[in-house]
Amino acid sequence: MANFNTHLNGAFAVSGILGLTIYKAGLIDDSGFLICVALGTIGGLLPDLDSDNSTPIKLGFNIASFVFAFGLVMHWRSELSLLSLLLLWLVGYGFMRYVVFRLFTSMTVHRGIIHSVPYMAILGLGLVCLNYYALHNPVNISWFYGLFLFGGAMVHLLLDEMYSVNLSGMTLKRSAGTAMKFYRHQDCWWYLLLYALLALLVFTAPPFAPLWEQLRDPTPWAQLKVGILPTMIENLMYKPK
Ligand SMILES: [Zn+2]
Repeated sequence: MANFNTHLNGAFAVSGILGLTIYKAGLIDDSGFLICVALGTIGGLLPDLDSDNSTPIKLGFNIASFVFAFGLVMHWRSELSLLSLLLLWLVGYGFMRYVVFRLFTSMTVHRGIIHSVPYMAILGLGLVCLNYYALHNPVNISWFYGLFLFGGAMVHLLLDEMYSVNLSGMTLKRSAGTAMKFYRHQDCWWYLLLYALLALLVFTAPPFAPLWEQLRDPTPWAQLKVGILPTMIENLMYKPK
C-alpha cells in the first residue's frame, strides 16, 4: 500500500494536470478549475479514510475543506452579499470537515468496503447529482466534479496496486490484486447493496451526453494545441529569424 504522501501527491499531480488541461481549453472557469483539482485530491485520499492511521488524513481533509470553502465563495461571489459569502465559507468548511469527514470515518466497521471501485463510483455519481439537482450547477460542470473525485480515487487504488508489486525483486506481495477491488465474496451483501445503489444513481444521474458532446467538439482542443508551448519556444520553432 502506498503511503499518505504518495496518495496526496499522486492525486494532486494527476488532477492538477487534467484540471489545467480542461481549464486552458476553456471547458471550466476559474472556480471550476480550483474545485476540480481540490476534488481530485480529496478523491485520492478517500479510499483510506477507514484506515487506523488517520492523522495525516485529518490534516489533508482540513486543507481540502479549506480549498472547498474557497471554491464555493468564488463560485457565488457575484450573486451573494459579503455577509452571505462569509456564512457560506463557514458552512462549506464545516460541512466538509465535520459532516462529510465524520460520515466516512464512522464507517470503520466494514473496513474495505470504502476501498473499492463501486463505492467510489457511488461517491462520484452522488456528487454529480448533488451538484446538478441541489446546487443547480450546469450539467457539464457537475459531471466534471464527479469525474474528478472518482478519478482521484482511481489514482489512489492504482497506486496501492502498483505498490503491492515489489519493484526490486519484481515479485508480487500478498496484497497484490486486492487494491483495485470490484467485489469480495466475504462482503457479498455489502457489494450487492453497493451495486444496487450504483444502479439507482446511474438511473437518476443527469445526462452524460452534453459533456460527451463538449469533449468531442474539436474547437477547444484546437485552441489548446496552439497554446501548449510558451510563445518564446513556439517562435523559435516555427518562425526562425
Ligand atoms: Zn489505499
